[in-house]
Amino acid sequence: MLNVLFSAEDARWPEYEGPLKQAFDKAGLDVALSRDHAPETVDYIVFAPNGPVSDFSPYTRCKALLSLWAGIESVADNQTLTQPLLRMVDHSLTQGMVEWVVGHALRHHLGMDAHINGQDGVWCNKAYPPIAAHRPVTILGLGALGAACGRALAALGFPVSGWSRTAKEITGLRCYYGAQGLQSALSGAEIVVLLLPDTPATENTLNAQTLSLLAKGAFVINPGRGPLIDDDALLSALDSGQVGHATLDVFRIEPLPPTHPFWSHPGVTVTPHIASFTRPESASEVIAAQILRGENGEPFLHVVNRDAGY
Ligand code: NDP
Repeated sequence: MLNVLFSAEDARWPEYEGPLKQAFDKAGLDVALSRDHAPETVDYIVFAPNGPVSDFSPYTRCKALLSLWAGIESVADNQTLTQPLLRMVDHSLTQGMVEWVVGHALRHHLGMDAHINGQDGVWCNKAYPPIAAHRPVTILGLGALGAACGRALAALGFPVSGWSRTAKEITGLRCYYGAQGLQSALSGAEIVVLLLPDTPATENTLNAQTLSLLAKGAFVINPGRGPLIDDDALLSALDSGQVGHATLDVFRIEPLPPTHPFWSHPGVTVTPHIASFTRPESASEVIAAQILRGENGEPFLHVVNRDAGY
């Protein structure tokens, strides 16, 4: 019998209790799932940052911390955590992100706002949008989410470039990496999607200098994390027309304060951190599969590199 501790906010328990138990049964795992096992008896922790556990030192038997979230910045530098930290990589989380990114990219590419907001009886501004092949897109971050979004946009015909920390080869994408690759990745991009993790190295990846590399009037889409963008530099670029529109799902402070200039700027669309989320049914299967790997002596998947911060 394995003791699995569920440490997430109270509202998550009714959503996850049934799917997790079902997934453990399906995987043939004999599990006691609870929110209050004694720390020294716990084999695995299912974790979300707003749950009750933040000191992991009493969990001496714990073999891994299984994050319900893909973004793990709030726990990555927790000094009490000595166990492996596993990120959530789940096909429904990925699919949700692909749909959100493609939707917003197409909105800007097709100039939909002009028509949706301009139902005034005047038959004008009959400008045809370019086809996708003439609209270069750059994805910053080529991990589980960024690579999937890049492939989906490339399948629609967009010329897609991507940027990562280490070298990558992804069919259909032009891949750049490292500090030296950022300029090439961003130069002339008309749509930029940020799907980097929040680490000390990625803060302000989009700043006054890098924003100036984009094509004039480019669209910025950020479902990654707020600190990836220098907010003041983005507002200046919007005011000067260097950036045509920014669709932002994530912010340095969430909820975004009502007085923040993003709310009132005509060139900004704010969405409330809903680009994608972990669905209990599919995430529970991922968690059961990871525990099964651990129990079978196989290496865990998607282990966070604590030095790199993601
Ligand atoms: P991954 O860890 O799979 O991918 C991260 C990517 O970023 C990798 O390609 C990595 O490079 C690259 N990267 C990391 N650091 C650097 C750096 N310093 N320079 C260049 N590239 C870098 O993450 P996911 O794709 O699963 O998720 C990405 C982010 O999306 C999450 O961290 C989270 O913040 C956000 N997210 C947002 C959601 C929302 O609803 N808004 C929902 C889910 C996630 P390499 O490939 O070389 O390792």
